[in-house]
Amino acid sequence: MEAPIRREDAIRKAAELMRSGGVMLADVCTLCGSPLFRMPNNEVVCPIHGRVMLVKTEEEVAEASIIGVLTELEKSIANMLSNYLKKIRRGEAVYDDARDVVYWLDAIERIERIKKTLRREEVVEAERKKAEKESS
Ligand SMILES: [Zn+2]
Repeated sequence: MEAPIRREDAIRKAAELMRSGGVMLADVCTLCGSPLFRMPNNEVVCPIHGRVMLVKTEEEVAEASIIGVLTELEKSIANMLSNYLKKIRRGEAVYDDARDVVYWLDAIERIERIKKTLRREEVVEAERKKAEKESS
């Protein structure tokens, strides 16, 4: 069992963080509800719990990286498709090549669809947070 957090301690620590250049954020610590501070080194700090990760930021980072991987994948597929284009132009394309092209185009279509879904979720989440903030 942890010792109860004293309010004065939190306030004193918050003042310390601000003196060190911390900027109070609209986000609060998920553990104790204290306002979080962004420090000059970009770390997000809770006056009670120290350095914390914003759940929203973590999710955003994960989503951003998924979108990044998907974009890279798309680029690689596009590069490969240009090889098929050369083959077609040389008149060397066979049935299997045509089938492969269809599969790769299908893959690109799916990637685009997933990216769109991820971006839409991001917007919905941002709007939800905004509404939450405005109602409190
Ligand atoms: Zn905390």
